Amino acid sequence: MSRHRVVIIGSGFGGLNAARSLKRADVDITLISKTTTHLFQPLLYQVATGILSEGDVAPTTRLILRKQKNVRVLWGEVSAIDLKAKTVTSHLMGMQTVTPYDSLIVAAGAQQSYFGHDEYAAFAPGMKSIDDALELRGRILGAFEAAEVATDPAERKRRLTFVVVGAGPTGVELAGEIVQLAERTLAGAFRTITPSECRVILLDAASAVLPPMGEKLGLKAQRRLEKMDVEIQLNAMVTAVDYMGITVKDNDGTERRIECACKVWAAGVAASPLGAMIAAQSDGTETDRAGRVIVEPDLTVKGHPYVFVVGDLMSVPGVPGMAQGAIQGAHYATTLIKQAVKGHDDPANRKPFAYFDKGSMALISRYSAVAKVGKLEFGGFIAWLAWLLLHLLYLVGFRNRIAAMFSWGISFLGRTRGQMAITSQMMYARPVVDWVERQAQEGTLAAAERIEAAEKQAG
Ligand SMILES: Cc1cc2nc3c(=O)[nH]c(=O)nc-3n(C[C@H](O)[C@H](O)[C@H](O)COP(=O)(O)OP(=O)(O)OC[C@H]3O[C@@H](n4cnc5c(N)ncnc54)[C@H](O)[C@@H]3O)c2cc1C
Repeated sequence: MSRHRVVIIGSGFGGLNAARSLKRADVDITLISKTTTHLFQPLLYQVATGILSEGDVAPTTRLILRKQKNVRVLWGEVSAIDLKAKTVTSHLMGMQTVTPYDSLIVAAGAQQSYFGHDEYAAFAPGMKSIDDALELRGRILGAFEAAEVATDPAERKRRLTFVVVGAGPTGVELAGEIVQLAERTLAGAFRTITPSECRVILLDAASAVLPPMGEKLGLKAQRRLEKMDVEIQLNAMVTAVDYMGITVKDNDGTERRIECACKVWAAGVAASPLGAMIAAQSDGTETDRAGRVIVEPDLTVKGHPYVFVVGDLMSVPGVPGMAQGAIQGAHYATTLIKQAVKGHDDPANRKPFAYFDKGSMALISRYSAVAKVGKLEFGGFIAWLAWLLLHLLYLVGFRNRIAAMFSWGISFLGRTRGQMAITSQMMYARPVVDWVERQAQEGTLAAAERIEAAEKQAG
């Protein structure tokens, strides 16, 4: 008899932790992910600003799991999940793979949301993938280069204006880091421009900075950023984004333009479409406004006790879209699978998933961060130190920890950064990548139609 088959979709915090916690279980695991790496998203902004390399924050999943013999890692984008047939269909370079399962863990996470304006993406990349971070590095450093060459003062000003949309942790961290890059690393490196004279704007449609961290810490972060000359514009809704800049509507209804070359979108997330696909096949499970699956108390979908949804794709009251939600969800689901394999699981009498809030933090600048742990709220150097230690702890792999420590050492204690190279691919490849992906999708559809037609003909 074959062993219990577990399919895991995703190699992020949810997927990787699920695979690892089944290490000693009597199961065969297939981990399918559309990326070959385990990406540590919280440090993406440091890739975008030249502190860390992409390899430092994204070790290869296959190599992390090399010694875990019960896992097979498949690179591929999941395009279909059939809850009735219990299969997952994935594609890679025009090849289709159908993987059967007994238990399924879906940890496909979330993508950037442009609130119905996907056309903004071409001008304001988000911060969700390595591609995004490298493209942003190209755009940020490229903007300083272009400003050095620009002879028209208005154009030079436009090139030196950076707008970060979204005042959550990612926006705060990135805005602070662009200032530090300009003031410390790039100081004295140009002849026509003074990088520290750049304008960094952090704007949000909401009325506060870091809303999930509460008023006190939000204000603390805001004051610190303002001290660093980051312009904070709140109650400001983006209504248009184009090559030359962005249009913003203020609370009083007036619209205004900000001419800027480099724009970053750090606002809004939308769950993977796989969530809606599963919900549609369940016995009444729904998705929320962001497309997340409103799971049962045991993180499953109705009528399918061995289909678990974890991480950013699950909607559970009180559980934020953070790494801990994904890690704890993955451990909960795998505990149930382990019990099922031993014949000890009774789906009707499962203890519900309980989230333990370990807190949240955001780094603002060198030696300054804000942190919230339970009722305890603190900021400054201690929070910065805590941020440093925790991120080191959660980075996967000894090499990556050493590399991050070394890079932080040279950039925090000194002024330099080790990852300042930019390439044309970083800056200009997005339209080409989009085109190739469209071609691949069309090719896959055409292949599926050919197979269907051949099957019909064969009777
Ligand atoms: C810039 C940024 C900063 C953040 N900072 C923090 C922080 O400081 N602290 C914190 O706790 N959290 C932070 N988060 C949130 C945290 O990273 C997420 O909550 C966490 O990654 C969720 O884990 P996940 O496994 O659900 O999804 P992810 O980690 O996003 O993983 C999803 C996986 O699914 C794969 N996938 C998606 N679709 C498919 C498909 N169709 N087929 C195959 N594979 C697919 C992806 O390739 C990926 O491997 C941050 C997020 C971002 C973007």
